[in-house]
Amino acid sequence: MTTWLVSNRLPFRIQSDGGLARTDGGLVTALLPVHESGTSWWVGQGGFPVDSSTQERLAAARVVDVSVPTDLAAAHYNGASNGGIWPLFHYFPAIARFRPEDWEAYRSVNRAVAETILARAEAGDTVWIHDYQLMLVPGMLREQCPDLAIGYFHHIPFPASEVFKIHPARDEILAGLLGADVIGFHTLEYARHFTAAAARLRDVAVVAEDLHVEDRIVRVGAFPLGIDVGAVERSLASPAHATALADLERDLGGRRLVLGVDRLDYTKGIRERLAAFERVLRRRPDLRSRATFIQLCVPSRIEVDRYDLLRQEIEREVGRINGELGSVGHTPIHYLFQRRNLDELTALYRRAEVALVTPLRDGLNLVCKEYVACHPEGDGMLVLSEFAGAAEEMGEALVVNPYDVEAVAEAILRALDMPKSERRERMGVLHARVVEADNRHWAADFLAAVTEVAGRNRTNASRSLEGPELTDLHRRLAAGGGLVAIDADLVPPDHPLLRQGMPGLTILLISSRPVEDCERSWSGLGVWIAAERGASLRDPSGTWRTGGESASLEPYRAEVLRCLEKRARLIPRSRVIVNHFSIHWHIGRRPSPLAEAILRETGAILDGILARSPWHAVRTGAGLVLRNGLHTAGTALTSVTEAAGLGSGAAVVTVGDRFSDESLFAWGGTANASIAVGSPVTHATYLVAHADEARELLSRLLAEDRP
Ligand code: UDP
Repeated sequence: MTTWLVSNRLPFRIQSDGGLARTDGGLVTALLPVHESGTSWWVGQGGFPVDSSTQERLAAARVVDVSVPTDLAAAHYNGASNGGIWPLFHYFPAIARFRPEDWEAYRSVNRAVAETILARAEAGDTVWIHDYQLMLVPGMLREQCPDLAIGYFHHIPFPASEVFKIHPARDEILAGLLGADVIGFHTLEYARHFTAAAARLRDVAVVAEDLHVEDRIVRVGAFPLGIDVGAVERSLASPAHATALADLERDLGGRRLVLGVDRLDYTKGIRERLAAFERVLRRRPDLRSRATFIQLCVPSRIEVDRYDLLRQEIEREVGRINGELGSVGHTPIHYLFQRRNLDELTALYRRAEVALVTPLRDGLNLVCKEYVACHPEGDGMLVLSEFAGAAEEMGEALVVNPYDVEAVAEAILRALDMPKSERRERMGVLHARVVEADNRHWAADFLAAVTEVAGRNRTNASRSLEGPELTDLHRRLAAGGGLVAIDADLVPPDHPLLRQGMPGLTILLISSRPVEDCERSWSGLGVWIAAERGASLRDPSGTWRTGGESASLEPYRAEVLRCLEKRARLIPRSRVIVNHFSIHWHIGRRPSPLAEAILRETGAILDGILARSPWHAVRTGAGLVLRNGLHTAGTALTSVTEAAGLGSGAAVVTVGDRFSDESLFAWGGTANASIAVGSPVTHATYLVAHADEARELLSRLLAEDRP
């Protein structure tokens, strides 16, 4: 089995002697060490002419070049990717340009990449696609070769669905991404945004972190990228680093150093940062001669006008501030428009007392992690934008809103004046976390998820329970001390199953209806009953207990009802039913596309209202229900196994349908054999097509004799 790493550009360029040299950039820094230490192949555009000797060199480095005509590559990269997707996904919709001919090029380049892979990969191989330039590739691969294990990682932000919806090709993008088994983001927030967009715009069901797409599961998760810690540590110990540090020390002559390191990009907040540093100098004139701010800008996308204009603007600002606040002996801001190698960079990081990483929006940001890795003793201090993905895992930094110039200035002063002990405490925690979660962990975690989900998708509950498996389960249940949990909708109240169970068998019926209805249907039956799917539980002697306070929707009830009733009026014949511990919105089994869209939208709004509660909206076969995550069919099952004293080896069989019973199927207690009715996309182990097949299977399973 081969793993294929796929990115838009290859991590190499051709040198004048024809040899390969590594290129730079966040993705290469993260992924190339993973490639070099493994056995993967890397697919991407070299962008250089490939003759037979280059071909050999590429093959020796396990690299495949996708050759694309220059004008097509430019329309794909500068046009659709960096002119459209990049600004939109970084919340700059006003400057995003969506030209149909660029999108054609985007599609063609994605197709060329997919075909290069398809010509080489075999069923069972793993393909790991990287970033926003290649969002259609997962879908193209899935269509042609369904048995590939496909992962996609999104290195930039995924915006709120309202912003994503602006993209004219939003449906094609979603369809492309949903071809993957796993879609990875740097943060939970981006993962949530993607899930919301998919749930609103496409016919997918959301079950925990999985999307159910036709007959497959797509896992949407947060996998924050780590840095190559080993490379940074080796650099810190290198003679080149020592020389660079000594040179820097000499140049600074004892002045305090504040540092910014960025690709020159309008998303990085460099103008706002300069304004904040200017405030610092105006508020604290003593720092004008005692502190230096080095802003290193790496040239980027220089062929695009917008980037060139930004460069001019920054250079003008630096000149103005130095002109106004510098002196003969000292210019407070040193601006460098150049790329430095790692040893020079670690010298800057090491010497800087404060690092300013204040992007207006950034997928993750590696610079802040590299800076922290260069301060193992916990000196230094990081001022970090709340809009960098890394902020989700680096809360010990001084986290700021980069648009709030006054607050950033305040944070810079606070960082400069911070007592040693506080620095050590904050940076110590950050350092430990950065070192532990490096890029290799990230890759291993992500690929493990791809293997798991692809494996599940291949076997996807299409198994029926029969033969030796059925006999074995029957034997274990007949041995006594087993439990069968059944969705009450699947067995009528007078069904013989409920009256002539095996000796010693515990039966749990799980109903969506309230206690009174359950009493009416099953009074006198010696089984456990979970009303409102677990919010109340009745034991076989007839005693009820409820989840109490924690089960109450009270603080949110009014707002939730307002939202539901307003929307219920938009769908003819729909009804809102308020129970003690759940609220149902019935719209019928076959909703119109409009009703379906209103339902999805309402689910997302309710999840927003209930974000800080254990409640959430769940799609059911006939509408929407609000449920409490602390009281589910799964928790009822746990209570019953405990009350019935079932040991760890006892057989537990759960039977239910797609929408309501995933918490039963995913239940992690004793040996759980789960049977789903209907949908092939489920956590259940076995599948039957209809409810009568489920009853027939249960009758065989619970028969006194062999099935
Ligand atoms: N970098 C570099 N030389 C420089 C400045 C930066 O090699 O002079 C590297 C830096 O070490 C980091 C990457 O460029 O690994 C920037 O990645 P980041 O995620 O911070 O931003 P991106 O450029 O991906 O937006």
